[in-house]
Parts: sequence; C-alpha cells; structure tokens
Amino acid sequence: MKIRTRLTMQFLLIGGVIMILASLSIYYFSAKYRQEAFFDRLRAKARMTSNLLIEAKLNPGLIEQMERNNPVKLNSEKIVIISSIDDTVFTTDYNNEIRFSYVIIANIRAGKQIIYKQDDYDIMGSLYRLSNDRYVVLAAAIDSEGKRHLEKLKLILLIVCLVSILIFTVAGWIYAGRALRPISNVVKRVDQISVTSLNLRIDEGNAKDEIGRLAATFNRMLSRLEKSFTVQKDFISNASHELRTPLTAINGQLEVISLKDRTNDEYKSAIKSVLEDTRSIIDLANRLLLIARTSAEGPVHSSSKIRMDEILWQSRDELVRFNKNYQVNIILDDSVDDESQMTVTGDESLLKVAISNLMENGCKYSNDHTVHVRIRSSDSHIRITFKDNGIGITPEEQLKVFEPFYRSLNAKSFPGTGIGLLIVKQVIENHNGSITLTSEPGHGTEVVITLPLSQV
Ligand code: ADP
Repeated sequence: MKIRTRLTMQFLLIGGVIMILASLSIYYFSAKYRQEAFFDRLRAKARMTSNLLIEAKLNPGLIEQMERNNPVKLNSEKIVIISSIDDTVFTTDYNNEIRFSYVIIANIRAGKQIIYKQDDYDIMGSLYRLSNDRYVVLAAAIDSEGKRHLEKLKLILLIVCLVSILIFTVAGWIYAGRALRPISNVVKRVDQISVTSLNLRIDEGNAKDEIGRLAATFNRMLSRLEKSFTVQKDFISNASHELRTPLTAINGQLEVISLKDRTNDEYKSAIKSVLEDTRSIIDLANRLLLIARTSAEGPVHSSSKIRMDEILWQSRDELVRFNKNYQVNIILDDSVDDESQMTVTGDESLLKVAISNLMENGCKYSNDHTVHVRIRSSDSHIRITFKDNGIGITPEEQLKVFEPFYRSLNAKSFPGTGIGLLIVKQVIENHNGSITLTSEPGHGTEVVITLPLSQV
C-alpha cells in the first residue's frame, strides 16, 4: 500500500473515531437529559394531582375535569392513585393501559421511587404520605416530542459523521500528498541518476528538515559513489596500461625475431627477455588479484597464530635470494621478552606479502640497497619499523603513494607498478593494524606498522 494511502487512512481513522465518539456521547447525554427532564415533569404532575386529591380533598371528578382542560397536559398522560388498602382512589387511565405488578406496588410502598417503560410510555411510581395514609401514585405519559427531538438529533449526528468522514478523506489525501511531495521529488531526481550521470545532485531544500537531511545523505552517498567510480575507472585504465606495456614488448620481440632466421643465442636471449616480461605480467596479475581479495574480504577472520619474527626472516631470505645486492638488517628491541610478544592472529600469506613489499621498497629505493627492520613490542601490540636511507618521498606525495598505481616522480626510473603500498595498507588494516609513513626526500623513508598481539 502506498504511503499516501496509508497516511490518508490513518488520518481518516483518527478523525472518524473522534467524530463517532463525540456523536455517541452527544446522543447519550441528550437521551439521558430528555429522560430526566421528562421524569421531572411526571413527578411534578403526580405530586400536584396527589396534593389536590389527598391534601386539598378535591372531588376526583373535579380534578379529572381540571386535567381534561389543562393546557400543559403531558401527551397521553395517565395518573393512578392507589390507597394503602389497594383501592384505586383516582385514575385517568380509563382503558387500563398502564400495567403494574404487586412487586412494583410493594417496592413503592417500601419507599422506593420506581421508573419503568411500557410500550411508548415512561412510567414513574412514587409514595405519597399524609399523616398515617400512604398512597401509591403512578404517573405515565408518552414523551413524543422529546423522542422526536432525539430522532432528529440522531439523523443530524449521522449526517455530520458521514460528511466529516468525507472531509477527513479528502483533507487527508491532500495533506498526505503535500507532505510526501518532497519525497516524490527526491524519487524522481534519483530516478534520473545513472552510472553516467553520477555528477547530478538532489535539491536539499533548507537541508534542516527530515527530507532535506535525507537529500543531503543521498548527495553524500552520490559523492562517495562518484569518487569510487572515478577511482575504479582510473584503476582499470592504469591496470590495462600496466598490462599492455609488457604485452606490447613481448609482441614486438616476437615480431622482430620472426622476421628472419636467427642464431641459437639470439633465440635464447629473445626467450629470456619474453620470459621476464611474462613474469612481470604474472606478478602484476597476482597483485591485482590480491587487491581484489583484500578489499573484498574486509577484516581477516582467520584464527591462525603467526610469529612475526619468522615471517620477517623468511621474507628477508627470499628477497636476498633473488636480489644478491639487497641487505636487510633485522633488530629485535629489548622490549621483546618472549615469543608471545611477536605473535599475532591472521593470514600468514597476506602478512608475508605486506612485509616483503616494505622490505623490497626500502632496498629498491636506496643507493645502499639496505633496509633496517626493528621489532618492538608492548603488552598489546607489535610495532615493526622499516627504515632506509634512500631517495625519500616529498610531503605532498606521502599520502598519494597509498593510492593505486601512484608512483612518486623521483621513483619513475625504478621498476615498479605502484600498487604494493595499497596492498600493504589493506592487509594491515584488515588485521586491525595501522600503518604510518614518514619521509624526507634525499634522506630516507620510515614505514611503521602496528598490529594487535594475539590473545593467549
Ligand atoms: P612500487 O614500488 O611498485 O612502485 P609501491 O606501492 O610499493 O609500488 O610504492 C608506491 C610508490 O611509493 C613508489 O612508486 C615510490 O614512489 C614510493 N615509495 C614506496 N616506498 C618507498 C621508499 N622506501 N622510498 C622511497 N619511495 C618509496
């Protein structure tokens, strides 16, 4: 069901219930008032007749005659007076229409005032005392005027109820439409936004009411989407470019070599060169896969306990095996007492990729090809510092180097793809750790990673 319909129905329900309750109470109190007023008149009439008959000792015939000519006589009025020995001493009920049982008479004689209905008649019975005599006085009449008024009131209230329900429906529909119009505008605008028009924004109005805040939230989300789409587009074009370079090189070499017959040595050197290019393609593909994996998986859920010092030694050995001129000095700080202060929980292969990358960068970007690795530990964290005396990074570029494919200007002459630090950052953050980089161009770079220790 549409919100507009639901709001209208709620509007109608609240208004309708209030109207019906108000009408019912008006009708109930009017009916009660009519009855009380009518019984007051009956009581007065009974008292007056009893006074005339019993106290003033007027002749019943005379009273009847007076009654017949009484201009304020009640409609179908009947008065019956019964003495204590059950004699009907006075009656205007000539056709014996008013019925009363002995129980009613007994109750009246016991001092109770009795009120009851018979057909259209409202009947009231009361006791009239004079010295030792006790008379039962029954007064009855039909309140046709009062009932007519009540019927009219009922009709008026019914019409008022129906009309107000109609008004509530129309007013609710208009009101809900007005209240929801800004939302409809937002929906229309959002409908216009597609992948190709992420630069469009929603009108925030005064940006203070709920709809304005909703629009502002949408706009912030659109900005984030636009940014991540741009990042993705750049990423894809950069990745394609990086892949195309070695592929073009392979293609060129194969074309040149196939132009004419070559010597064995020439073939061997061409194959070696092609192999190097394919290796770099495989390396890049693996790194791209790693980026996809680390960004998609989020926090690492593995519960494996990993010794960081072992990872450092293994990474160092592998790096030095393939790069004979690289040197990695690992120093264990005094703050590390036992192996529990070097044990973290996580994914061993990912942590190894991150550590190797930081070691390789330190060696690659420094003339002495040396990186100093220092392990420090506190009660809850292990902190590993990678320090080199290399080319350094300018302050403006220090944040950018964590962006995909970004390479600082002074690093262009070194081999690399510019995605290593991004992987390192994602791996460390996925292990609930943090990474900071400080650097001075021409003097060197220091990268510090901090990881939470495994809980024993
Ligand atoms: P790559 O080394 O393959 O280019 P990285 O993502 O590892 O990619 O590094 C991104 C960039 O950060 C590098 O291109 C380089 O400009 C800079 N960089 C990283 N580590 C260092 C370092 N130790 N010294 C100087 N520059 C560095």
